[in-house]
Amino acid sequence: MWEHLYTTNEFEKANLSINAFELEGIAGFVYPEPAGAPVMLYRSYNPKNGIHLLSSLQEYNYVLNFLGFVGDGQVGFIYPLPTPGTVQLSRLRNPDHGDYLYTINEEEKANAINVFNYVDEGPAGFVYAAPSPGINTPLFRSYNSVNNDHFYTTDENEHRHAVNNLGFRNEHIACHLPMTSHPSIIPLYRCHRRDPFDFFYSTNITEITHAINNLNYSWEGIVGYVDAVPADNNIPFLRMYHPGRGDHFYTTDDKDHTNAINLGYVDEGTACNIFSVQVEGSIPLFRLLHVFDAIVHVNIIGVGGDVWPNSQWTLFRNGFMDAAAILRPHGMRLNLVTESLIRQADADGHEDIDDDDEARDLTHEWSVPNFAVDVFGVSTYAGETAGFSAVDGSCDKSYPCQMNGSVVEVRAAIPVGVVMAHEICHYLGLEHRDEGLNLMRKFGAMNTTLLEEDQVSKIKEHCFVRKLNYPS
Ligand SMILES: [Zn+2]
Repeated sequence: MWEHLYTTNEFEKANLSINAFELEGIAGFVYPEPAGAPVMLYRSYNPKNGIHLLSSLQEYNYVLNFLGFVGDGQVGFIYPLPTPGTVQLSRLRNPDHGDYLYTINEEEKANAINVFNYVDEGPAGFVYAAPSPGINTPLFRSYNSVNNDHFYTTDENEHRHAVNNLGFRNEHIACHLPMTSHPSIIPLYRCHRRDPFDFFYSTNITEITHAINNLNYSWEGIVGYVDAVPADNNIPFLRMYHPGRGDHFYTTDDKDHTNAINLGYVDEGTACNIFSVQVEGSIPLFRLLHVFDAIVHVNIIGVGGDVWPNSQWTLFRNGFMDAAAILRPHGMRLNLVTESLIRQADADGHEDIDDDDEARDLTHEWSVPNFAVDVFGVSTYAGETAGFSAVDGSCDKSYPCQMNGSVVEVRAAIPVGVVMAHEICHYLGLEHRDEGLNLMRKFGAMNTTLLEEDQVSKIKEHCFVRKLNYPS
């Protein structure tokens, strides 16, 4: 755990931050879409028949993952939508041998369909018909009649090599593609590895493809669009990697960067450039930290709470927060689901507990009908005891023959958080352990907050505890 995740997706942020992750804040701002800008056109080929394909990122990923194609690099940019001064680049496919033909020529398109049995697959995108130096770049086309493959490249050397050495016939310039402009807004990709757990972000599709093909990462899509080059209004998004944790960490903050390096992260340079403040059209890039692998829901119930002073409620609520903080380093999330009270008039005197039998009666007589540990806050608990709980409590709180909740004394002199964490851990199956600063000491203090690994494993097996997986 302790790996970082970045997202622009509000739903993902909301879902993950109440489960295995904690929201750490906004890492910066990025564009949600390339805003009418040209998008990258990717080239792949099918090793079975040597056929080349040009496609959008989505299709590129699909054919690589499911149709046996192999990545063959980035060809250049193309407008996904009609743009002034551009024409449609049509894509056709021949079902007999699989060749893809791209053309801006309506006559050639009609001929390919009527004479050569090609099928129109619609627009591949929008491009320029005429050259315009500095604005666009030629897309060269050649044809291999042995395996019926049209080949496209913006690299003139590659084109010449195909024609001179690989048996391709020169079919000259198919069209002109827009060139990347400044500022060059490019996608920031995300991929994920299960073990060691990590999220990896890059604008370099070759690097992402390598991670997916060779390093056990899986594709998770585009986070947003970022600037490939520094500009006045952007800031470097610094990338680091911790080989021990297997975590990629990114920040725009120099102090964060220095701290991370001191913690054993290795500097990997600038990932891309993002905005430190929200510029027009940009959205927040949230940073989350993977903290939890288990969660337990908790109800807190103030016994006689209608007559408690505010300070007692504050102690009770802060006690819950402290208990949650005690279990957090162990990957266990305490989630407060309900807060309620038993009116003093109804409490049958249980706001002051005289002995453990009375505590047992209290948890019998009251329970919150949900799948959560009931923690009853009382004003006094007789004797040295500051709390009492079932050990390995039932997940059926209507079960009549045993204690089915935890009781905690809520007084300023009591370390309420430690007692609450202690009692909840009893409920989740732990016995006393009078060692060192263990949380399960029979008589605890402010600093008895430690748990051993075997204790942590044990509580995570309780029926009230749900394992948190990613994706959740
Ligand atoms: Zn105890």
